[in-house]
Amino acid sequence: MSPIPGHGLAKGLAVTLRTMTRRTVTQQYPETLPELPPRSRGVIGLFEENCTVCMLCARECPDWCIYIDSHKETTPAAAPGGRERSRNVLDRFAIDFSLCMYCGICIEVCPFDALFWSPEFEYAETDIRELTHERDTLREWMWTVPPPPALDPAAEEPKELAAARKSVDKLAAEARVAVQAPPAPAAQPASAAQPAKGATAATDANTKDATDPKDATAAKDATEPKDDKGPKDDKGGERP
Ligand code: SF4
Ligand code: SF4
Repeated sequence: MSPIPGHGLAKGLAVTLRTMTRRTVTQQYPETLPELPPRSRGVIGLFEENCTVCMLCARECPDWCIYIDSHKETTPAAAPGGRERSRNVLDRFAIDFSLCMYCGICIEVCPFDALFWSPEFEYAETDIRELTHERDTLREWMWTVPPPPALDPAAEEPKELAAARKSVDKLAAEARVAVQAPPAPAAQPASAAQPAKGATAATDANTKDATDPKDATAAKDATEPKDDKGPKDDKGGERP
C-alpha cells in the first residue's frame, strides 16, 4: 500500500511539536555545571607526599607523557655507627595532557597511591603547549578528588584505619591516666622545712671559717656521737 501523500511531513511536524512542548534538558554550561559521575576521568591529581619517585608511572605510560626529575639526598645515621640513608627528592612532576589518552595505567601502577582521577575538566587551553601541567597544578587538582566510596559493611577494616584508630586510642588512654593521676605534693613552707637545731649548727660550722673555735666546738657537739657509757654523777665520776 502506497503511503498517504504528506504523511512524512505530518510525522515530522508532530515530533517537532512534541519536542517544543517538552521541558528543555540542555544544561546551560558554563552557567550550570554538569553533574558528572564521581569517578569521572577528568584529570590526574598528584598527592606528592606519597610519591617516592620510583618512576613506575613514567615507565608504564604508553604515551611517555609523564616527566619526572629528582635528586638524591643523604640523611645522616640516626645512631652513632649507623648507616647513612639516601632518598629521592622530587624536583619536577609534569603530565602533558595533549598526549595523555586517559588510559589510567599510571594511576593503576603507582604502588604508593600518589595519583588519582579527578572529575575536574575545565583546563582547556588555546595553545597546545600549555597543556603540560606541572606538579603545583596537579597538586591543586588533588583537592577535587572525591572521597572513595564507603566500604561494604562486611568488609575487613583497612590496615591504615586500624593503625590510626589504635594510636588514637593509645593517646586517649594516656590522657585519661594523666588526668586521674594525683597532683604532685606542694612545696613545704620554709619554716616547716627547717632542719633540726643540732644539724643546723653542724652545717653552719662546716660552712663557716674552720678557725673559729666556738663554731668548731658546736660542730663537734652536733656531729660527734653522745658518750654511750651512761650518765655521770655530780662529781663527774661514773655511776655504777
Ligand atoms: S592516563 Fe595513560 S596516557 Fe595519560 S599519563 Fe597516565 S598512563 Fe599516560
Ligand atoms: S608510580 Fe607513583 S610513587 Fe612512583 S613516581 Fe609515579 S607517582 Fe610517584
